[in-house]
Amino acid sequence: MSTPRYQWQPTTREIADRFGLHPDQVVRFDHNTSPFATDWAPGIVAPMARRLNEYPGASYANLRRAAAAHFGVKPDTIVPGAGADEMILLIAWAFLGEGRRACAPVPTYPLYEIATLQSGAEFRAIELDVPDFGFPLRDLGEAAETSDVTWLCVPNNPTGHRFPDAAIEQVTADARGVVVIDAAYAEFADDRWGEWMIRHDNVVVLHTMSKGFGLAALRVGFAMTHPDIADRLDAVRPPGSISSMSADLAQEALASPQRMHRHVSMILAERERLTTELEGLGIAVVPASATNFLLCEIGPGATHLAASLMQEGLVIRQFPDAHPLHEFVRFTVRSPPEDDRLIDALRRRLV
Ligand code: PMP
Repeated sequence: MSTPRYQWQPTTREIADRFGLHPDQVVRFDHNTSPFATDWAPGIVAPMARRLNEYPGASYANLRRAAAAHFGVKPDTIVPGAGADEMILLIAWAFLGEGRRACAPVPTYPLYEIATLQSGAEFRAIELDVPDFGFPLRDLGEAAETSDVTWLCVPNNPTGHRFPDAAIEQVTADARGVVVIDAAYAEFADDRWGEWMIRHDNVVVLHTMSKGFGLAALRVGFAMTHPDIADRLDAVRPPGSISSMSADLAQEALASPQRMHRHVSMILAERERLTTELEGLGIAVVPASATNFLLCEIGPGATHLAASLMQEGLVIRQFPDAHPLHEFVRFTVRSPPEDDRLIDALRRRLV
């Protein structure tokens, strides 16, 4: 069997070239990233940009301290990495491998399955309950009892749902191995996992600077976990996968979270407006998103719709034919003018 691999989306430059557009005309509704520019950043990187001859300090002690202060935990519970993605791969490396098992409720973020299979371990997919994507508590609890890693995406990408605390608590109690709570979208759900992590010595919480903090290009994420697990992850961490500039910018963003809070509030208000507009076009929006994206049921025309929107530079997330969500699309909530472009393009096609 060939090794499963992550499917990359075409880049903004590739899409612009393909359809004769300027890259500024391309809007990423597929990446769940932030619409807010980072005008505050150049002043912080300028001094560092004159000292690119040396490696970053491999312990990232200042970055760990900044993250610990923000999340309300001790620095020895934080392991930094090049995005939550690197932490997912490091968890698979540290806790999975031949003869091991992992499970996750699906559909979810595809990298859990990919990292599991690449490590040589077995992946058990437990389908979310139909039709409303309810949490499959009994089946997942049973799978977690015999799994070395249980992957939980909270809130879940791509459904947008926040699984209930009681269900997560139950699975954590049932689990034999490590329970990963990927909290990439935590800021949109106002979730704080510090206390939870302290109460459970088998939980690894993942955070990222890419979503609520709006800094996807930095590639900075964290695992927040019991110091013994943190030590096992540190043991497999590359010495310098976060650049010095990224570390400095992430530190600055963590030290002044007001900007993030302001941006998250704006996105949440815009999510409500976009939902109303989409429903006004007759589109079935999956209710109760706790994230910065909306999953929508389109029907058999979903693939065609995505291809057609891309021609005008509007890139949406669509799912392959074999995927259970192949009749759905996912829209990232962006700025009001960008969302207006999307709404206008959908109106021209659907109404
Ligand atoms: N986890 C989830 C659930 C995600 O949706 C994403 C990115 N789309 C990631 C992790 C990756 O985060 P990062 O940019 O920190 O690698």
